[in-house]
Amino acid sequence: MRRLLIVVLTALLPTLLNAQDVRNIILLIGDGMGLSAVTMMQFDDIDKKTIFDHSDNIALTRTYSLDNRVTDSAAAGTALATGTKTNNTYLGITPDGRWLESLTAYANKRGMATGLVVTTYLQHATPAAFYAHSENRHNYADITRQLADSHIDVAIGGGMHYFKEEYGTEDSVARRLNKSGYTLVRDMESLSRCNPRQRVMALLADYDLGADSGSYLAEATGEALRLLDKRSEGNGFVLMVEGSLIDGMGHGNDAEAMKREMRSFMGAVECAVEYARQNPSTLVVVTADHETGGLSIVSGNADFNLSEQGIEYRWGTDGHSAQMVPVYLYGTGAECINGIMENSELGQRLKMLIE
Ligand SMILES: [Zn+2]
Repeated sequence: MRRLLIVVLTALLPTLLNAQDVRNIILLIGDGMGLSAVTMMQFDDIDKKTIFDHSDNIALTRTYSLDNRVTDSAAAGTALATGTKTNNTYLGITPDGRWLESLTAYANKRGMATGLVVTTYLQHATPAAFYAHSENRHNYADITRQLADSHIDVAIGGGMHYFKEEYGTEDSVARRLNKSGYTLVRDMESLSRCNPRQRVMALLADYDLGADSGSYLAEATGEALRLLDKRSEGNGFVLMVEGSLIDGMGHGNDAEAMKREMRSFMGAVECAVEYARQNPSTLVVVTADHETGGLSIVSGNADFNLSEQGIEYRWGTDGHSAQMVPVYLYGTGAECINGIMENSELGQRLKMLIE
C-alpha cells in the first residue's frame, strides 16, 4: 500500500510542482486553425521545422458546442475562456443565462495583469468571450459598453467604429475610456511609448487590421508583453493573442491568404515562446477555436503510388468543420496538459494553473 502511494505521488509530483510554478499564461488562438492549416505551413518549407514542431507537449480538443456539433467562435471562445461549453452565438453565458467567469477575470481577481491582442476588432467573438456576457455575439453596442468597463489592462486591436457608434466622436470615446482608467491609443508608435502604469485601449483600426497586416501581430504581442511584464510586478499575467483572420481566409477557401495569416500568427507565437524562454515561469498555449473550410491536403496526381508531382488544397465547406483541433504547449507547466480533452476542459485546466 505504502509503495503504491509512493508510486502515485511520484507520478503526480511533476504536475503539482509545475502547476505551482506557472506565473504567466500566454494563450494564442488561431481562429479557424485546423491541423491541415498547420500541415500546410510545414509543407511551405519542408526542410525547416515550424514553431509548432518545436512545442514541448501537445494535446487535442473536441470543439463541439452545446447545441451544434459544428461550433461557432462565440461558443468555442467561451469554452476556452471560461471552462464551460455553451450554445453557438452565446458569449460568457450559459443557455439558461448564468454568467461565466473568464480566465482573465479570474486572473484579475487574483491581482494579476491581463491583456488581449487581436487582428480583428476587439468586440469580435473570440476576444469578447474573455470580458463580455451576451446571448448574441453580434450585439456590438452592448459588447462595446462591456469592453469600456472591462477588467482587461491592455487591449490591442481594431474596433473604433463600434466605440464611435456608442459614444460619438473620437474625443468623446477617449473621455469615456478615461473614465474607466484607459488611455486611448490610435497607432503602434504611441503604443510603444505607453507607460506600464497606464491601462491601455489601443484601437488601431475601425474594424480589423486588414488582411496582410504583416508583422503587426508579432509587434503588438511584443508591446503587450512589455507592458504586462512590468505592470504585473511579479504577480503574473494572462495574455490572449488571436490570429483572427485565419478563419476568414478559410471561409473564402483561399489557401495562399490563409498561409499569409498563419505566418502572421506564427510570428506572434515565436514572440511568446521567446518570452517564455527568457522568463521561466511562463506557459505558452497555442490552439484554435475550431477548423474552418474543411481543408484537406491531397496528392496532385490521383495515383499517389507514383513519386509526388505536387499537392492540392481541397476545401470541404465555406463554413466551419467539426474536426478536433491541436494544442501546442511550451515552457513551464507544458507537461500538465496533454491527451484528448473537451475545449472547456482546457479552459478549466488553465484556470487551475493560476489558482
Ligand atoms: Zn468563422
